[in-house]
Amino acid sequence: MQNDSGRRKFLKSFLSVGAAIPFLSSPPPYMAKNPIRKKGKQSLILTSRGKGGNWGEKVLTNGWQAYEKTGDMMDGVIGGANVVELDPTDMSVGYGGLPNEDGVVQLDSSVMHGPTYNAGAVGALEHIKTASKIARLVMERSDHVMLVGEGALDFALAHGFKKENLLTEEARVRWLQWKENLSDSDDWFPRKDGDYKREIRQTGTINVLGIDENGDIFGVTTTSGLSYKIPGRVGDSPIIGAGLYVDNDVGACGATGRGEAVMKICGSFLVVENMRRGMSPKEAIENACKRIVDHNHGKVNFNDQFTALNKDGECYRGQIRGYGKGAGPEYSIATKDGVETLRGGSFLK
Ligand code: ASP
Repeated sequence: MQNDSGRRKFLKSFLSVGAAIPFLSSPPPYMAKNPIRKKGKQSLILTSRGKGGNWGEKVLTNGWQAYEKTGDMMDGVIGGANVVELDPTDMSVGYGGLPNEDGVVQLDSSVMHGPTYNAGAVGALEHIKTASKIARLVMERSDHVMLVGEGALDFALAHGFKKENLLTEEARVRWLQWKENLSDSDDWFPRKDGDYKREIRQTGTINVLGIDENGDIFGVTTTSGLSYKIPGRVGDSPIIGAGLYVDNDVGACGATGRGEAVMKICGSFLVVENMRRGMSPKEAIENACKRIVDHNHGKVNFNDQFTALNKDGECYRGQIRGYGKGAGPEYSIATKDGVETLRGGSFLK
């Protein structure tokens, strides 16, 4: 029988053989479009953030610097995501994220590495600000794809991470206000001047996708998830194929918004498979949005967004807009020439 280290070596060599197999079939139709990379096979990083909070610029500047430093686009996409994870002013990702029903911050994240078709994820992770780094460790330093809850935390501690408080004062106050305003028949009373308006429960999340000059593709999704969720609820973000999917032959997609709806259609996988069949990122996203609308019999009272790029570096972000008004969602792209913010489309108002 093979011992464990034999098995590990076998797995690693299997992976590298797999990664080296060339793409044998004739080029699919999307190869013909090639709008960005044809000009110079340039690397790019795409994020679901735009001008709001200047996040697009901040994320991509850090991501690009991390990429340039090591030449590894996995560092680029995670370096980008870390900016939001570590910043307490963003209340939808990492440190400062809004907590669950019990006032505890629980984070979800996933990463994918195109060249090896490998993946890692954590769900309901507490006490660690940079969930994306732990997802990457699960991918690179374990034989598993996903760890959740205490197991994910123990794994992070084993790798030298330290437990930290993720609940900022601002997030605690927002949570308490939500709790005290939930019902007038429980024992939690709001302040006398308390605001009885029910808040729309916040979603947020960030996707960062990258393609390097070899055409290899990488991705990360990270979030504190739906605010005030039931403890232990895991959204789409750490589910491979839902909140993130990367196929090195085709492209990548990440999702934000109501995770339950994205999970039920394997949203990011669907977008990538649509691109494999020849759709542009825009068409692929529109088709996935339509799938959600159809499955909900046309009644959509939530928002979902998909951000995608194909092997040629063509990028797009589109959304279903079940509530709220306004234009399509912003997204930003970094190349060696700098950062550009663009606006995508909405498919349902
Ligand atoms: N998709 C995330 C979730 O459902 C939340 C979000 O993107 O805002 O957990």
